[in-house]
Amino acid sequence: MAPDAPVVRKSRPGQPGSQSALRQLNRTRITEALASGGPATQAELSRITGLSTATVSNIVKSMLGDGLVTVEPTTSSGRRAVSVALDGHGAIAVGIDFGRTHVRVVLATVGHQIVAEDSVRLPLGHHAEEGIAAAAELLERLLAQANVSRRSIVGAGAGIPGPIDSRSGTVVQGAILPEWVGINLLDRLEEALDLPVFADNDSNLGALAQVTWGPHAAVSNLMFLKIGSGIGSGLILNGAPYYGHVGVTGEIGHATINEHGHVCRCGNRGCLETVASTAIMIELLSRGAPRPVGVGEIVERALAGDAATLRVVEDAGLAVGRAIGNVANLINPEVIVVGGPLAGLGELLLAPIRRGLLRHAVPLVGETTVLVMSSMGDRAEVLGAASLVFQQHGIRRS
Ligand SMILES: [Zn+2]
Repeated sequence: MAPDAPVVRKSRPGQPGSQSALRQLNRTRITEALASGGPATQAELSRITGLSTATVSNIVKSMLGDGLVTVEPTTSSGRRAVSVALDGHGAIAVGIDFGRTHVRVVLATVGHQIVAEDSVRLPLGHHAEEGIAAAAELLERLLAQANVSRRSIVGAGAGIPGPIDSRSGTVVQGAILPEWVGINLLDRLEEALDLPVFADNDSNLGALAQVTWGPHAAVSNLMFLKIGSGIGSGLILNGAPYYGHVGVTGEIGHATINEHGHVCRCGNRGCLETVASTAIMIELLSRGAPRPVGVGEIVERALAGDAATLRVVEDAGLAVGRAIGNVANLINPEVIVVGGPLAGLGELLLAPIRRGLLRHAVPLVGETTVLVMSSMGDRAEVLGAASLVFQQHGIRRS
């Protein structure tokens, strides 16, 4: 695993030190070797993993039985050998996206095909345990539906709308899900799912999805900006997700826009979130209304030309543009992708963001940065979560 990997995988399924834990560990090592290096003979696998040829042979046999790998005869240094490859349909990754009021799960193949997918609604303010239990239940249902064996699962990737300390796998202060703060996401998920788990912030996964599943596969420097009840971003720099020192990056929602503005949930004043999140838009547009407007209504009203809604969207866009102008000056991205529940606004939101970007970025940077809406709807995070599993295993779609 790379030293700057997103969130550590602390343990493997099974009891530590037990035979089954050891077997699972060895299996994962072989999967990783095949995923990063492509097909290999059993002798090569033995060299790469340091496992004995007898152990490799046994594991390959059991993986073959589970449909995880395919084998074919070959010759190596003039001798007969067996070439082992990951089965593109057999090796499955689980992607899980936890939100404020939903959990979504996908089963995806190495070849980026969706095998099964569904989501369930959760009550606002639900506790982490409730979300984790719902994810485990949904996973079991999808496995049964798609007739996928648990043994063909390489691992599960999980995203949550909040920062995770990459040293421990713990959800830290600043999460949109305050009930999850302090939870060790990896430990709890591995216990509940009985799978190797990888976890990351949802904006990072949104960024990863753009360069793995999305239309920006060839882009090396990309910023994904998620505008929702909070505002976060994920960065792909030089072709790889950027995780910084302890895994907390892209917190652009707390860029100061107006020092005398509203107090933010982070304790500062006038953060971008206090002027451009869907939470503040709802607050501004619900004044005097019998009930709060929904995010969907904001999109509908703006598209219908409602003046107050358009003004709120425009103000938000300009503030976002100013904040990303500073980021663009720093990292010179090729593409900035805007995602989240306001994506349906299209140019109504992109145009003021672009104006803000052009005003605050160095001219050449502003003019050459492509600004687009995410085409992945509310699925970017969950698809990125599935990618995380393969990426941690060294797989990137090239
Ligand atoms: Zn803040």
